[in-house]
Amino acid sequence: MAIIGIDLGTTNSLACVCKNGKPLLIPNPLGQVLTPSVVSIDQDGKILVGSVARERLISHPEASASSFKRFMGTSKVFLLAGQEFTPQELSSFVLRQLKEDAERFLGEKVTEAVISVPAYFNDHQRYATKEAGSLAGLHVERLVNEPSAAALAASRISGKEEGSYLVFDFGGGTLDVSIVDYFDNVIEIIAVSGDNRLGGDDFDEIIARRFCSLHQMDYDNLDPACQFSLLRLAEDCKRQLTGKNKADLVWEAENKKMTITHVELAELCQGIFDRVSQVVESALRDSDRASGDIDQVVLVGGSSKMPVISFYLQTLLKKKPCIIGSPDEVVAMGAGIYAGIKTRQQDIHDLVLTDICPFTLGTDVVNHSDTDNPILSPIIERNSILPCSKTRCYTNSYDNQSHICIGIFQGEAYYCRDNIKLGAIEMDILPVPAGQAHIEVCFSYDINGILEVEVTDHQKKQVRKKMLASDHLRMSQEELDERLEALQSYKLMPPGGIRTRLVLARGERLFAQLLGPRRQQAADAIQMIHNALLTQNDQQIINCLKAAQEIFDRLEGL
Ligand code: ADP
Ligand code: MG
Repeated sequence: MAIIGIDLGTTNSLACVCKNGKPLLIPNPLGQVLTPSVVSIDQDGKILVGSVARERLISHPEASASSFKRFMGTSKVFLLAGQEFTPQELSSFVLRQLKEDAERFLGEKVTEAVISVPAYFNDHQRYATKEAGSLAGLHVERLVNEPSAAALAASRISGKEEGSYLVFDFGGGTLDVSIVDYFDNVIEIIAVSGDNRLGGDDFDEIIARRFCSLHQMDYDNLDPACQFSLLRLAEDCKRQLTGKNKADLVWEAENKKMTITHVELAELCQGIFDRVSQVVESALRDSDRASGDIDQVVLVGGSSKMPVISFYLQTLLKKKPCIIGSPDEVVAMGAGIYAGIKTRQQDIHDLVLTDICPFTLGTDVVNHSDTDNPILSPIIERNSILPCSKTRCYTNSYDNQSHICIGIFQGEAYYCRDNIKLGAIEMDILPVPAGQAHIEVCFSYDINGILEVEVTDHQKKQVRKKMLASDHLRMSQEELDERLEALQSYKLMPPGGIRTRLVLARGERLFAQLLGPRRQQAADAIQMIHNALLTQNDQQIINCLKAAQEIFDRLEGL
């Protein structure tokens, strides 16, 4: 029985095993080590995970979901083909896929995993990740922090055991910068800083907007399907730019084209670079380090592959970043090394800083454009140093309001419903005209993570207090067993026909994207594949898939 390491990413997930002391990434049935963290349900109720599901995000949006890691530990529910799933259930499908791929690759059962999570993940998010593991039939004794895994991989692979690391992790939708010390077998996270709304997606959008302005189109008013297609084309264009000096974005459906160079991209992305430098500087500031104190800058995440990024970082930190293998594989390698260490019953201690509050705490305020959907008003912002006490003032929203309910939320999302509700304080207030009440809300967060909330109505001279230590939103063992049983009835797509499924899914996606004769060509190619499948002649099927791929490549302008 083997233990594997898993990087369960927002955009992509990977599994890794340690063989003879070396991390070995596990390929999926398509022969790729990166499996997109996308889940889709097909018409037979089978679960598709990865590239096929990613194609279906466009052709079958109502049956597909992505980016669910953002909502781990919240009560958000995703609706796929009319069925409800929590973020941890969707994650469990990804984990189950990685587990089955690993079992096929290794030829043995996999029952245990070390899963990496962002350093700033709070207790709920960590618990939800473990729950996803249980739902996938994996025992998750250990979660490891992503920057720690990256630092471990960097030190092992570069042969430099100890030192101070700056881990720059730039993924699909998030940027995380961590200062990590690795000394005497202890990996310690000294500071984390991040922007959870900044990632590869932003480059895609910038390229797409540039394309629209060049062709007098209004990006914001494109219909959602068109916008999605354009973003996919922009992403392809961005990836091409990683390997060469200029790249083309060809939008066949609209009969439009744009060429973009590195220099142009760098100019368009000035705003992104400013945000990147703020995050890097705040991590250094919080850790009380200067860039000269850092031994190694480790590039992590798919977006770190972009030459403009490593170039920018080198200028900012006056140090050449080190690239260990492919940046989007580093965290998985580290998780795999942890798994290997665990197999040998040894241990490395992984410490997270405890003296900052890694997430925002706030209350709900009225959303005037959608009154059922209150907005988060942050009181203690993430990365505040503990202990910490902050006060904000609020007022009544309508005349003679006599009662208020102050919700207490944890998280970074704009809408309260996407954050974790920790509790609420209710109290009667003095009825006065709207906007004239003077309600003070004070949040005090101590070093042990206990939050005290105090609400004061100055006119009524009344105070209400509440202490909170968060431990709800967890499933009981019975609930867990029940969901486990329910999820067992969802079967993953068997690996056999996966290549065919991917070509077909791509064809259906193109059918959804294209119009007129080009759309007909996609339809003809799909029909051609179905006809070949009916013959059950392997050679004929292989030839036909190849021909269809060529048609699709041409339709996409590749
Ligand atoms: P996450 O940690 O969010 O799961 P990854 O580390 O896999 O994500 O990064 C995904 C992002 O990396 C996507 O935005 C993707 O477009 C980008 N990316 C992947 N490869 C390249 C490349 N060669 N050039 C530029 N961007 C890339
Ligand atoms: Mg990642």
